Amino acid sequence: MDKAELVVVGGGIVGLGAARAWIRRHPKSRVVVLEKEAAPGAHASGRNSGVLHAGFYYDADSLKAELSVRGNAAMRAFCESRGLPLRVCGKLVVTRHERELPRIDALLARGAANGVRVVGVDAAEARRIEPRAKTVERALWSPDTAVVSPGAVMAALAAELREAGVEIRTGTTLTGRAGGRILATSTGPLRAERVLNAAGVYADRVAASWDVGAGMQLVPFRGSYVMGEGTPPLACCVYPVPDPTVPFLGVHVTVTPDGGTKLGPTASPARWREDYGGRAHFSLEEAREQARAQLRLAIRERSFRRHAVRELLHHSRTLVVREASALVDGLRRAQFRAWGRPGIRAQLVDRRTGRFVSDFVVEDGERSVHVLNAVSPAFTCSLPFGELLADRLEGVA
Ligand SMILES: Cc1cc2nc3c(=O)[nH]c(=O)nc-3n(C[C@H](O)[C@H](O)[C@H](O)COP(=O)(O)OP(=O)(O)OC[C@H]3O[C@@H](n4cnc5c(N)ncnc54)[C@H](O)[C@@H]3O)c2cc1C
Repeated sequence: MDKAELVVVGGGIVGLGAARAWIRRHPKSRVVVLEKEAAPGAHASGRNSGVLHAGFYYDADSLKAELSVRGNAAMRAFCESRGLPLRVCGKLVVTRHERELPRIDALLARGAANGVRVVGVDAAEARRIEPRAKTVERALWSPDTAVVSPGAVMAALAAELREAGVEIRTGTTLTGRAGGRILATSTGPLRAERVLNAAGVYADRVAASWDVGAGMQLVPFRGSYVMGEGTPPLACCVYPVPDPTVPFLGVHVTVTPDGGTKLGPTASPARWREDYGGRAHFSLEEAREQARAQLRLAIRERSFRRHAVRELLHHSRTLVVREASALVDGLRRAQFRAWGRPGIRAQLVDRRTGRFVSDFVVEDGERSVHVLNAVSPAFTCSLPFGELLADRLEGVA
């Protein structure tokens, strides 16, 4: 029977990052990455904003804080060493009302606690950094935020792994366990000494085969972008102060490595797990599951109700442009005619408290490690996250 020392379920950035860390430590071992799509990076990892976050949003004791500071530096070095698109443009977090000023102070304090370079700037200084940025009194400046091309990163990482001998078995779905160390896949059984579950929006389903993650409910959120065309280039990304009651950063203005502009992403509750719009990837069972889960969340959490209603407005490009216009001057509706490729966040809700889980969750199972809630900034964090996962995998078998 086909055998591997490590089987990674999911060819997204988390799975590939872990496969890279493992094969560097164990260059002779056989590693197989199972990916149900035709190529790696078909879901969140190839459909995100491409922002390397600096690490000032997250609680000091979180995995997100620890990994994003190191991940930002590691991913920048990866892109530089391979000549991939990279722009260290920085980010302004601006305020739209005086009442948001204390939150700027809180983000500055978090940044300092996490060892991130962040600077409080007044409105004039913000305008010197980006002449079209709008803010009330003050803003936060993060010089280390950078932008990359997620597709180029995924392709380079996959090529490096293949060169190192890792097999990326595309078009193959893990369907369950066939007893002991034997995995059932859509292309036949496979014996695994250890398994890493990095299956994104299906990570909870994969984890259930190892009796892991029962206390969590996955609620997918779709992020859509409005793409600029012929927009005057911005010097940096411009974000609003985030709403602390939901785990999203709010519609923002992102620059792309080639100097383009995109607005978003939105954060609308998805109807099923891979609900990219229309009927694509429709599953009646998932639609029922989500209807129940989101109704429960709406009954328990006022912040979710408020958020879901606000998100209805984001079905209109005009309203997305209007919202982003509170951050940056001179955005014209006529320059934002098309939606970009949406992505889905694999957001978890704690079934017991009914609250969104904010940090990454890594749980061990029998000869397996499961990555749950790999939401933003898992792309930024992926290289040191891979090292952490390799440590955990060494411990489980
Ligand atoms: C709209 C949006 C914007 C974002 N912006 C940023 C950002 O700017 N910066 C940042 O750092 N992060 C960002 N993120 C977060 C980041 O993209 C994700 O956290 C990250 O890509 C998650 O990677 P992953 O490998 O866990 O998941 P995925 O990329 O979804 O990979 C999981 C893979 O598993 C495969 N799979 C699932 N089930 C199976 C199975 N049973 N068998 C085989 N294969 C399976 C899937 O096909 C998929 O390819 C954003 C996310 C979204 C959605």
